[in-house]
Amino acid sequence: MKHKDIVIVGAGISGAVLAERYASIGKSVLIIEKRNHIGGNCYDYIDENGILVSKYGAHLFHTNFEEVWEYVNRFSEWYDWEHKVLARVDDKTVPIPVNITTVNTLFGTNIQSEQEMKEWLDANRLPIEEPKNGEEAVLNKVGEVLYEKMFKHYTKKQWDKFPSELDASVLNRIPVRFNYDDRYFSDKYQALPKEGYTALFANLLNNPNIEVLLETDYFDIKDQLSGYEKLFYTGPIDRFFTFKDKLEYRSINFHYETVDQEYFQENSVINYPGMEVGFTRIVEFKHFGNQKSKKTTIAKEYTVDQGEPYYPVPNPRNQEIYQKYRAEAEKLTDVHFVGRLANYKYFNMDQAFKNALDLFEELQHASNKIQEKDLVR
Ligand code: UDP
Repeated sequence: MKHKDIVIVGAGISGAVLAERYASIGKSVLIIEKRNHIGGNCYDYIDENGILVSKYGAHLFHTNFEEVWEYVNRFSEWYDWEHKVLARVDDKTVPIPVNITTVNTLFGTNIQSEQEMKEWLDANRLPIEEPKNGEEAVLNKVGEVLYEKMFKHYTKKQWDKFPSELDASVLNRIPVRFNYDDRYFSDKYQALPKEGYTALFANLLNNPNIEVLLETDYFDIKDQLSGYEKLFYTGPIDRFFTFKDKLEYRSINFHYETVDQEYFQENSVINYPGMEVGFTRIVEFKHFGNQKSKKTTIAKEYTVDQGEPYYPVPNPRNQEIYQKYRAEAEKLTDVHFVGRLANYKYFNMDQAFKNALDLFEELQHASNKIQEKDLVR
């Protein structure tokens, strides 16, 4: 195999950003990707209905990091997209995150101001000073009734665990709104790439210094690789060390359907937080960017424990296992573990961009320091 300065395992966000950064300073880069495409779980494509669909579920970009926003704008044009999610609860359709409309629709109240919403929440929530898990986090914010209707069973379907068995951070991803704001996120920048994520990744990797090997398992060829300066591993950390203790991951089965009508539902994403159906949500892709087509494509999402790892499962037991791997990882010089799977953290896309950009800067800084020292000598 030809010599490369930098070897990267995985062509998702972390891998692609590091490849782009190193290629930009003249390093030769090899990316080894098990799947037959770039982009990791952001991968999207035009389907038989002419609609841009995501193979691994909808990806909504949002960030407050100026440097990430500037960086992604170098590789794609973006259009503003403020994501909204509806939930079907008790034959009603309500916004999630919970806001004034959610409460009024579900309970027939007539809340009209932030003050009244706060009063309603105060009368319903169970104040818990330091929520220790997901259940306490939700009870503390919205109380038992909304917990039952909107969070308990959705979480069980999503994680095969009740919120009490998950870290508070998982459920804290969803805020509560005291007003009518029905956006899923409140970040400064909320947008989608004009030509899709795959095109964004193709632009990131469009550099003669970068070679991408698709459909290649790093573990099958690792003995043929040598002499590189650095290796970046973005896959599951337990796979790297092949320890006995397996970390848990959740995967999603997507049941795609073509529906022979212009629209299937009124919004891009509709959650089903009850037990009456097995899926967690239905995504109708044509809503993103208001795509036009005669038919429509939807995907029902069923979360499962086997398959491509998507979500690390944040709870104390997995954290303990992860820490053991982390300690092993830290002993390795010039192998770096980057991204959601290698760090076993539920990163959003912008955090993944930021971590990869920061790591590059940090390593460059360190290597500049060494060079300076050598010059002084
Ligand atoms: N969640 C819920 N009900 C909902 C939406 C989310 O209980 O209608 C919980 C669930 O545990 C989920 C977590 O909040 O895993 C985080 O949701 P998010 O939408 O951030 O998950 P993602 O989009 O990453 O799948």
